Amino acid sequence: MKAVRYHRPKSMQVDTVPDPGIQQDRDIIVKVTATAICGSDLHIYNGKIPEMENIVMGHEFMGEVVETGKGVRTLKKGDRVVVPFPISCGNCFFCQHSLHTHCENSNDNYGPEGGLVKEKGAALFGYTNLYGGYDGGQAEYVRVPFGDFGPRKVPDGLADDKVLFLTDIFPTGWTAIDWAKLKGGETVVVFGCGPVGIMAQKAAWIQGAGRVIGVDIQPYRLELAKRTAKSEVINAAEQDVKEIVRDITGGRGADVCVDAVGMEADRGVLEKVMNTLRMQAGSLNVLDMCFSTVRRGGVVTIVGVYGSYYNNFPLGQIFDKGLTLRMGQAPVQHYIDTLFGLVQEGKVTLDDIITHRMPLSEAPHAYKIFNDKEDNCLKVVLQP
Ligand code: NAD
Ligand code: ZN
Ligand code: ZN
Repeated sequence: MKAVRYHRPKSMQVDTVPDPGIQQDRDIIVKVTATAICGSDLHIYNGKIPEMENIVMGHEFMGEVVETGKGVRTLKKGDRVVVPFPISCGNCFFCQHSLHTHCENSNDNYGPEGGLVKEKGAALFGYTNLYGGYDGGQAEYVRVPFGDFGPRKVPDGLADDKVLFLTDIFPTGWTAIDWAKLKGGETVVVFGCGPVGIMAQKAAWIQGAGRVIGVDIQPYRLELAKRTAKSEVINAAEQDVKEIVRDITGGRGADVCVDAVGMEADRGVLEKVMNTLRMQAGSLNVLDMCFSTVRRGGVVTIVGVYGSYYNNFPLGQIFDKGLTLRMGQAPVQHYIDTLFGLVQEGKVTLDDIITHRMPLSEAPHAYKIFNDKEDNCLKVVLQP
């Protein structure tokens, strides 16, 4: 079959690889009908995570069940399914506590380098040996472990585009807001108007925010946030976000700040802004912007990915302001049924962020335009 694999930095290729087969009783094989490229795939594309060794890319995918292991009773051949990005057994301590990205039975590799304790970590599709070494769904077929737990059936009549983003980015945006436990009327500032940031903005309205502000440095993405999430927007390359938010909140700051950018924030732009706006030293990354934009006693949630050490962490500021912090990967299985309901009831639209649809064979080009922000690209869906 054809599948997308990482070859070297900035080079994804469509390779011919062996078809996947059932390995465990709870496996299913899915014939992929739609798959998307995620901002997390760009960490690999940019060569930040070397441990890819021939693994097929992709953790946002859906399709048709073509084979089931003998332990699978919930699905049958021909069912259409949408598949959460974390690989989780459903039975272990962590799965029972809705901590699906910490499942004990899906990844025998060990957690981050330099951790004090060696611990079993998360397993994801198409995301390096560190995360279990599973092949992903940017392919014609994919093996889905624990196929009787994660995948959800999609009724006929509901097009792929309507539900594809239940695999990752909508649950991830939802998680970022759910962690802040809104009571109603809050001012929520979301840093990043990429696919995850825009989904967080949509989620903020649904969960009761009174004011939602999207921040980015790409004018076209700010326009898309305005149009699809109905947010107010601030261009962080031109304006001092903290000052604007203070002005509109009686000098207090935002109730909630979300980091939906992660470690690859464009520092060059931030340096330029810092110089032109004479902002204080220390506002050089998105996390610092979150800590200074949020009000005292507020909440900062981080769904943008950080790896390894993060030096000069402003613990004094966080302590003084009495902030609450939550971060990590989204437990998709915990939220997916609720979110599926919102889609079916018409309470949220997810496909309005798709800017490009292409055949799988054009994956190398798709990665390039998504990474380089060419052709006003926000989200690409690939069809095998
Ligand atoms: P993306 O790269 O398309 O979006 C990032 C956005 O941040 C871009 O629009 C970019 O212009 C903007 N940006 C860059 N520097 C900035 C700055 N200094 N200030 C403001 N905005 C800036 O990616 P995405 O798909 O939206 O993903 C965003 C992040 O979320 C990535 O780190 C991704 O790995 C992560 N992610 C996490 C989870 C999870 O479970 N926690 C799930 C999916 C994705
Ligand atoms: Zn993702
Ligand atoms: Zn488990």
